[in-house]
Amino acid sequence: MSKTDVAPFWRKPLTEMTQGEWESLCDGCGRCCLVKLEDEDTGKVHFTSVGCRLLRSEDCRCADYPKRQKKVPDCIKLTPDVVMSVSWLPPTCAYRLVADGKDLPDWHPLISGSRDTVHTAGISAKGRITANEDDVPEDELVDFIVGWPTRWPAKAKLKPTAKPAVKRGKDGLPGKA
Ligand code: SF4
Ligand code: SF4
Repeated sequence: MSKTDVAPFWRKPLTEMTQGEWESLCDGCGRCCLVKLEDEDTGKVHFTSVGCRLLRSEDCRCADYPKRQKKVPDCIKLTPDVVMSVSWLPPTCAYRLVADGKDLPDWHPLISGSRDTVHTAGISAKGRITANEDDVPEDELVDFIVGWPTRWPAKAKLKPTAKPAVKRGKDGLPGKA
């Protein structure tokens, strides 16, 4: 078998990834780090343009990733179970793409080799974070609701290529192909 025959790690189920592989799958878009509001009546989750207090607006990275859950108790740690159960992960999120059996798009850092392409392709929250959560009273968050985090930007023309469907176990998690 030649080197080119080895499938990239993101084509295996999320549950089989090493910690390093899992972490590198995040494209650094920062969309999931925007404050979200849940409609009490419908359960629908709305994104706002307000960033988590640790979200750096210049590069959309977490200012203290190792200690994030101590500093921001409601920061949700993504796991395969969480990826499969939450409805609000953005359509561009690499975890969601892989869970749905799709390939990574060209702007993903693992494909492009650069962390910048997630910004230049118009995927990230860079330039669109209008406030920090520490500066916005809770009852005013509704004024910051935006729709773009739930959409695939028109600028990012290259949609992920479908790959053979990932088999799923009875628990709904990807199973071994
Ligand atoms: S939305 Fe997904 S890819 Fe983007 S920062 Fe969050 S976890 Fe990473
Ligand atoms: S604590 Fe860090 S990882 Fe968690 S939501 Fe805030 S910026 Fe994102």
